[in-house]
Amino acid sequence: MKFGGTSVGKPERMYQVADLITRDNESKIVVLSALSGTTNALVGIGDALAKNNKEDAKTQIDKLEAHYHTFIAELVKTPAALAKAKAIVGEHFEFLNIITKISFNEALNKDILAQGELLSTKLFSTYLEEKGIDHYLLPALDFMSIDANDEPQLSAIKTKLSQLLKNHSDKKMFITQGYICRNSKGEVDNLKRGGSDYTASLIAAAIKATVCEIWTDIDGMHNNDPRIVKKTVAIEQLSFDEAAELAYFGAKILHPTCIWPAQHENVPVKLLNTMQPDAAGTVIRDEAGSEGVKAIAAKDGIIAIKIKSSRMLLAYGFLRKIFEVFEKYRTPIDMITTSEVAVSVTIDTDANLAAIVKELEPFGTIEVDKNQTIVSIVGNKIGSSADVLSKLFDTLKPVPVSMVSYGGSPHNISLLVADQYKIQTLQLLNSGLFGLE
Ligand code: ASP
Ligand code: MG
Repeated sequence: MKFGGTSVGKPERMYQVADLITRDNESKIVVLSALSGTTNALVGIGDALAKNNKEDAKTQIDKLEAHYHTFIAELVKTPAALAKAKAIVGEHFEFLNIITKISFNEALNKDILAQGELLSTKLFSTYLEEKGIDHYLLPALDFMSIDANDEPQLSAIKTKLSQLLKNHSDKKMFITQGYICRNSKGEVDNLKRGGSDYTASLIAAAIKATVCEIWTDIDGMHNNDPRIVKKTVAIEQLSFDEAAELAYFGAKILHPTCIWPAQHENVPVKLLNTMQPDAAGTVIRDEAGSEGVKAIAAKDGIIAIKIKSSRMLLAYGFLRKIFEVFEKYRTPIDMITTSEVAVSVTIDTDANLAAIVKELEPFGTIEVDKNQTIVSIVGNKIGSSADVLSKLFDTLKPVPVSMVSYGGSPHNISLLVADQYKIQTLQLLNSGLFGLE
């Protein structure tokens, strides 16, 4: 069971988490993020120190410490628990204060970023102890690790974690930190922003859990962007493949990397809502559940690059040469369409755009279109549904579509439209494909 920053961001939310994890008697590992706002504050402190702005760092540390003192004063009631919570806050803020006095480096920055999850789990554990809820605080730094390429080491995690669990086989409930880990040098590191979902999925895979529950404050993944269309509905079930197609499109509810570990060990992932704990939410598993279109997602700020050359006609190796340019600049291509004499690709960063275009020029005429939006239609077997295609193009008559990618997977059809058509496209598709306004 993983709870994000807002689910532990206030004492009353922590009480609710305690209720949710004690609703049944199942053995479980509970993964917590830092209290909402804390990781951002720690990033701010690290940035100030990187600029050698010690006074600014100190001001930010003091402000954050005050927030924690207010938090614990409300969180626990008995003098013993409060003394313990004060000691925890004291210890971690003393550490931050010491860091401001020594010379700063990237490894220390990672130590700073780790304080949020260490604090949230220790304080939560103190609260559980006060309530007499039996549990064991499992240090993530003792089992969660990444290799030199920042990739989690699933088999090492499995070995270490199962040993730790064996050592505490009298316990049924474990609390641990999301996000933080050790790197190949043994230093404290992290799984990147939003990485607590990844922690949960890695743990679920490592212990082959019956389920990986991601608790947030939305009732699952929705069929469309609720900020853009009026009516959206939660999706009941998605396959891992469908979820992977959606994750790229800023379906912010779930961190994109979090799908593969669960898929690898076939552990169902449930997206549940702490505000409505009995709502079904969304389950992501090996089976898709139903056929047809399930969701639409969009990502704007996309750049389309068109390479046109008559030399491409009947030539082999042409695409490889083009792709090598993107590889050289470590720029992922998201969408591709080709004709006999042209190929169009999309990228989502302009970091190396000028250099890429320069290197592509020898291959033909290059056209760059900025401010584009990828609209992705995701579902089960939509790639073979004539019905979906005809509805899609009927619905989109008023919108100029500049690229279509179909057939790459049976779960996905992607379209490219200019950014100014994004809202209209999502709204039209909501009524055209789902019958929702
Ligand atoms: N606390 C970390 C962050 O804010 C990790 C997480 O919340 O998932 O990015
Ligand atoms: Mg999150």
